[in-house]
Amino acid sequence: MREILTAGRYFKKTYGEKVYKIPVSMFGFTCPNIDGSVARGGCTFCENESFSPNVGKVKLKANYLNLNSTENPFLQRQLAELQSQYSSTKAKLIKKFKAEKFIIYFQSFTNTYAPLETLKKLYTSALELDDVVGISIGTRTDCMTDEILDFLAELNQKKEIWLEYGIQSTDNETLDKINRGHDVANMYKWIEKTQERGLKICAHLIFGLPNETQETMLQSTQKMVDLKIDSLKIHPLYVVSNTALTASFKRGTFTPISKEKYIDTVVKAIKLTPQNIIIQRITAGIDDDSLLAPIWCKNKHQQMKDIRDALKKENMNY
Ligand code: SF4
Repeated sequence: MREILTAGRYFKKTYGEKVYKIPVSMFGFTCPNIDGSVARGGCTFCENESFSPNVGKVKLKANYLNLNSTENPFLQRQLAELQSQYSSTKAKLIKKFKAEKFIIYFQSFTNTYAPLETLKKLYTSALELDDVVGISIGTRTDCMTDEILDFLAELNQKKEIWLEYGIQSTDNETLDKINRGHDVANMYKWIEKTQERGLKICAHLIFGLPNETQETMLQSTQKMVDLKIDSLKIHPLYVVSNTALTASFKRGTFTPISKEKYIDTVVKAIKLTPQNIIIQRITAGIDDDSLLAPIWCKNKHQQMKDIRDALKKENMNY
């Protein structure tokens, strides 16, 4: 039976104990695909302030994010929130699991889209917090620069640094369709530059994007394998309210992936992934009223059970 290298198993092997990821969300951060620098409205599945006044209501327009500037009037607030979000989640994890080691995950929006001096301060401060063994930075490849990578490579000498790139698909037609705002050539270029610095990459893929066949989804997976990325996160495309995708779904021009097809594709994707690639996520669920479709995404526990069962039949243990 193949023991799939999950994040849990990887961290246990590396640190001798479980490491817990703590997501943080930085006040004022946004995304160039939302604020108009690349596009407006964002990826078609992304819930953001273009569609909902409630999302990011404390978010500022990116006009302070003049990337040539070292000025950031919100830095003190961002640093304070980094510390408080970390401390509050850490306390809960200690209470529940007796957790001792943590990775801070800069999760919301695009976490390299800020002045370099801001990023330096935030990343360094995160790594200095007690019991933090590394950071993971969620971003887009078109928001990476050589200067950021060089700085991260320095940090990587002492602690574990991960870049989580939203890839979604390696099909340019799909990327256009979802209003991604960049093409696959951009992804390949920055994946290569990231790897040249010895930094680890977790690629995010979405299965069930508009017009994609199982073959397209597996091609995207294969491409990531060929590029020798370190880790994969896979999840199904679901429709939530207040997104551009909602309109397509309501018009009947977008049909969500079925549970059976999703599971079958995940199993095939993992089968073609070498054992050294960490599989950090195999599905996602959203248990609230914002989920419009597919309804099977509501129950993440059931999904996990079904995917685990399907993997077992193929002699793989997640
Ligand atoms: S890159 Fe991420 S934050 Fe930006 S629009 Fe797409 S999904 Fe939303």
